[in-house]
Amino acid sequence: MTDGRARSRRRALLAMAHELLPQMIAVRRDLHMNPELGGEEKRTAGMVASKLCELGVSVQEGIGGTGVVGVIRGLGTSTGLAGSGPGRICATGPCVALRADMDALPIEDRKDVDYRSRVPGVMHACGHDGHVAMLLGAAKLLSSLAGEFSGSVKLIFQPAEEGPGGAVPMIKDGVLSDPDVSVAVAAHLWPDLPTGVIAVRGGPVMAAADSISITIRGEGGHGAAPHRSVDAVVVAAQTITALQTIVSRQVNPVDPLVLTIGTISGGYRHNVIADQVTMSGTVRTLNPALRKTIPDIIRRTLDGVTRSAGATFEFTYSPGYPPLANDERVAAIVADSARKMLGKRHVIEDIEPSMGGEDFAYFLQEVPGAMFMLGAGNPDKGARYPAHHPKFDFDEDAMAIGVALMVDVVLELLERR
Ligand SMILES: [Zn+2]
Ligand SMILES: [Zn+2]
Repeated sequence: MTDGRARSRRRALLAMAHELLPQMIAVRRDLHMNPELGGEEKRTAGMVASKLCELGVSVQEGIGGTGVVGVIRGLGTSTGLAGSGPGRICATGPCVALRADMDALPIEDRKDVDYRSRVPGVMHACGHDGHVAMLLGAAKLLSSLAGEFSGSVKLIFQPAEEGPGGAVPMIKDGVLSDPDVSVAVAAHLWPDLPTGVIAVRGGPVMAAADSISITIRGEGGHGAAPHRSVDAVVVAAQTITALQTIVSRQVNPVDPLVLTIGTISGGYRHNVIADQVTMSGTVRTLNPALRKTIPDIIRRTLDGVTRSAGATFEFTYSPGYPPLANDERVAAIVADSARKMLGKRHVIEDIEPSMGGEDFAYFLQEVPGAMFMLGAGNPDKGARYPAHHPKFDFDEDAMAIGVALMVDVVLELLERR
């Protein structure tokens, strides 16, 4: 495609996406008022499926639980070829997947807006309502453009990103095959960046999010007779301090590691020495090699500290989402598309990785792809709080930019295959 044609295509996509904005806002606000927790996205999934059906998109429901998948075929694809079996879609050419997550969080909505959550204690505090609205917007644009591309586009509406995870069940249910996905792209609304700005880079952008639980066992006794007991509270305090020296003293300082003890509980009353303390925490890493070493380092630290005090311990390390690593080539294509659409100054390619977790990482273990951060901060519209804050909101205008960019990236990926 000539530069001139590509330029006018991008202008047209932005205009079409802006035209769709009122519909996307309506969808987003409807979801915002009716949020559903991970694994329970029945209403959301039903709405997604019926909107896709209205567009004439072929839809599969119940993938990996409440997941929904739509496929849009371009001119270069055909259906029902001999030997493909009933209901199968046989695509010629590549298949690009776009993924949106659908779940909300167990947080009380503290915003003062008329689209505030109507479900007590449940809130879309991570922008996943916007992700669904944008992917439906992209579905509409791509359906109308189906005559202009070859290959296919798979629209993946995923449950339970905030936990326990919906990517793995969807992959197990075959979401990446038939047609086989060659590349996957996702956007995350990001109020830490202003509306109109995009951040994308190759390599690790989100962390592995593992959890740990620790029990320290001592010997109970009278609060006035410490010499006749083993104080689990004191050992727990030493343990926490020692665990922090893993980050500061035992791993390469240029290799990011977070070790947070989030809960601690133990003891009975002020004058009783506690025989047991339990703690839980999270471990975040970007480097898979470093990640592998952490359980043993924690165990060694626990062993040394407890042994020196005459206490014992139990330790469980539960691996969570892996690090999210963007493919260099796909990230470069997204950045290139964003630069041409939004201008060079609006594309950040050296953004620091986030130590948050994201289960889109599992898709990127299977196929190359990228997640980009879609700037949606606007203090004048109340979009100034970080993700998971009870007043979290995002600038809805960002959805038009997100959709135009997603569609442009899909078309680029299909053309450059
Ligand atoms: Zn989140
Ligand atoms: Zn999120």
